[in-house]
Formats: sequence, structure tokens, C-alpha cells
Amino acid sequence: MDFSSKLLERAVNEMAQLPGIGKRTALRLLLHLLKQPLEQTDFLAKSLLQMREEIKFCKSCHNISDVEVCEICSNQNRNHNIICVVEDIRDVMAIENTGQFRGIYHVLGGKISPIDGVGPSQLNIATLVDKVKMSEVEEIIFALSSTMEGDTTNFYIYKQLKDFDIKTSTIARGISVGDELEYADEVTLGRSIVNRIPFENSLKSN
Ligand SMILES: [Zn+2]
Repeated sequence: MDFSSKLLERAVNEMAQLPGIGKRTALRLLLHLLKQPLEQTDFLAKSLLQMREEIKFCKSCHNISDVEVCEICSNQNRNHNIICVVEDIRDVMAIENTGQFRGIYHVLGGKISPIDGVGPSQLNIATLVDKVKMSEVEEIIFALSSTMEGDTTNFYIYKQLKDFDIKTSTIARGISVGDELEYADEVTLGRSIVNRIPFENSLKSN
């Protein structure tokens, strides 16, 4: 791509580093901004920077938040004894959109994947075990993808928790979960949470 402006070229190259945005798309977006009032670019740049600098992760569930403890964890109308374990923040958003879950979450930040060099210590597993130890958790729901890594992660956590007197369950298999959890339609996802099955049953069927 030949640019008559180094400034534009630099902006295109930076923007094209974002996932799903190639240089063509980057150029189209930037040319659009050039046609808009300066304030629009100013507002966009400032909101990106402020988001990056000030955003926090909930110290209880590791969900994204503007405050120390996220709105879900600090909501006393939710059932704090049921914890839904998810891989990332997008899964929280997907499950919240179903309106079918009134418990709280625990965001692992990934899944165990030896190939990618991700072990249990790199994930938020210890804080989950601590939570089960320290509070009156009744049930843990695994809502990870039904991939090998998802299964490995579920089983690892299940073993860590097996000495505690809690119920472990998993969302119904056979629906789009995990990497696709955010794309699963709300009705299907909501139903799979409501109709969750005991985790032990999912082991037998494998
Ligand atoms: Zn939280």
C-alpha cells in the first residue's frame, strides 16, 4: 500500500494490528475519521486511552470492572453460593444476556493448555479454591468449552474441589460453548444453564 502521508501510514499500520482489521479496513476507518470533525477522533482516542489506563479486574471474580468489586459480585440480590466458572469476560457477558443465571461468576482467564504453555498456576484457579474454602459455596457450574483444554481444566478444578461438600455441575453438552459461547443464541445458552447436569455425569458420557 502506497501512502502519500507518513502520518496516515503509521495510523493504518497501528490499527491493522488489531484482530480482524486488515490494512484496507484500517484505511477505510481512518479516512472516515478524516472527514468527521476533529472532536470525534479526540473523543475516540481519549476513551480508548482512559479505558486502557483505568479499567480494573474485580478482585473477587476477575471480571472486568470500573471499581474494585464488580457490580455482579457486589449485588446482594444475587446468589453468592452458586458460582459459574467461565474462561473469559465475554462468557460472562453471554450468560448475563440470557437473564437465566442469578449466581455469581469466576473468570479463569483462559484454560489449561500445555501446548500453549498455560498451566493451572497462570489461571485464576487458586482464588476459586480459596473462595470455596472461605465462604458458603453450594455449587460450582463449569461453563467452559467442550474442547480437550476445557475438559482438562474442568477436571483439574473438580479434583481440587472434591474434598469440599459442594455440588459440581456442567452446562449441557452438545451446544455451542467455549470459544463460541458468546455466539450461542441466548435461548439455547440460557436453557443449558437451567438444565445443567451433575459434573460426574459428564465424565461418564465421555
Ligand atoms: Zn466480581
